[in-house]
Amino acid sequence: ASATSAGPLGRVIAVANQKGGVGKTTTAVNLATALAACDKRVLVLDLDPQGNASTGFGIDRRYRSVGAYQVLTDGASITDAAVGTEVPGLSLVTSSVDLAGAEFELIDQDEREYRLRDALEKQPLPYDYILIDCPPSLGLLTLNALVAADAVLVPLQCEFYALEGLGHLLRTVERVKKSFNPDLTIQGIVLTMYDKRNNLSDLVASDVREHMGKLVYEAVIPRNVRVSEAPSHGKPVLIYDLKSPGSRAYLDLAREVLKQETEWVAA
Ligand code: ADP
Ligand code: MG
Repeated sequence: ASATSAGPLGRVIAVANQKGGVGKTTTAVNLATALAACDKRVLVLDLDPQGNASTGFGIDRRYRSVGAYQVLTDGASITDAAVGTEVPGLSLVTSSVDLAGAEFELIDQDEREYRLRDALEKQPLPYDYILIDCPPSLGLLTLNALVAADAVLVPLQCEFYALEGLGHLLRTVERVKKSFNPDLTIQGIVLTMYDKRNNLSDLVASDVREHMGKLVYEAVIPRNVRVSEAPSHGKPVLIYDLKSPGSRAYLDLAREVLKQETEWVAA
C-alpha cells in the first residue's frame, strides 16, 4: 500500500491456502505476535467464520459484536472493529459465525470483491503489518482478502499433495492479478508442521524448495505440541511458551519477513 493519508500505511498480507488444517491461523497469529515483539504495529484480520484466530488471542465472544462481518456487510470501519489483545502493539478484527453468511449476502452486490479493500482504504490505519487469516476455501471471503492485499503468504504443510494444492492457489493468484489486483505478489511460502522424524517431511520440503526456490522461507515451522496447546489457553505460542521450538521458528520467520521490507521498499 502507498503512504497516502488514507488507508493502510504498512503492508497487507493475506495468509491463504484453500486447504484446511495447514497452519494458516497458527501462522497468522504467531507471525503477527512475533512481528509485534519486533516493535511493529500489527493488525490481524480474522476472515474465517470459524473464528480460530479470535479464539487464539483469547477474545471472548461477547467482544466480537463488531467484527469482520460488520466491516464487509454493514459498512463498519476497521477502526470501530479493531480490539486490543494481550500482545502489546497487536490489535484484532474478530470474526463470528455470521461471516459464513456474508459470502451469500454479498453475492448479488456491486463491487463485492472490493469490500475489504474499500474498508481498509477508508481511514488512515496506523499499522506496519495487517495479516488476514483466510478461510479454507477460495470463495468470496478469500477473494476479498486477495483483492485487498499487497501480497500472499502461503503456509504449506509438509505432506504428500502439498505441491498440487500450491499450484491451484498460485493459478488463483494469477487470475486475481488479471481481474482485480495487478500488484498482488507472493510474500513467501512457509513450510509448517515439519517433523524431523518423518522422511516424508524432508522429501516434501526439498521438493517444494526445488520448485519454488527463493519464494520459500528458510525458517521452517516444526510440529510442536506447545504450538497446538497454546490456542486452548487463548494465547499465541510466543506468550504461552516463548522458549518452545515453535516460538523460535515464528521469530525466525518474522525476521525474514522484516528483511523483505528492504526489497519491497526498493521495488
Ligand atoms: P488452518 O488455519 O490452515 O486450518 P491451523 O493453523 O488451525 O490451520 O492448524 C490446524 C491444526 O494444527 C490446529 O489444531 C493447530 O493447533 C495445529 N498446528 C498448527 N501448526 C502446528 C505446529 N507447528 N505444531 C503442532 N500443531 C500445529
Ligand atoms: Mg484457520
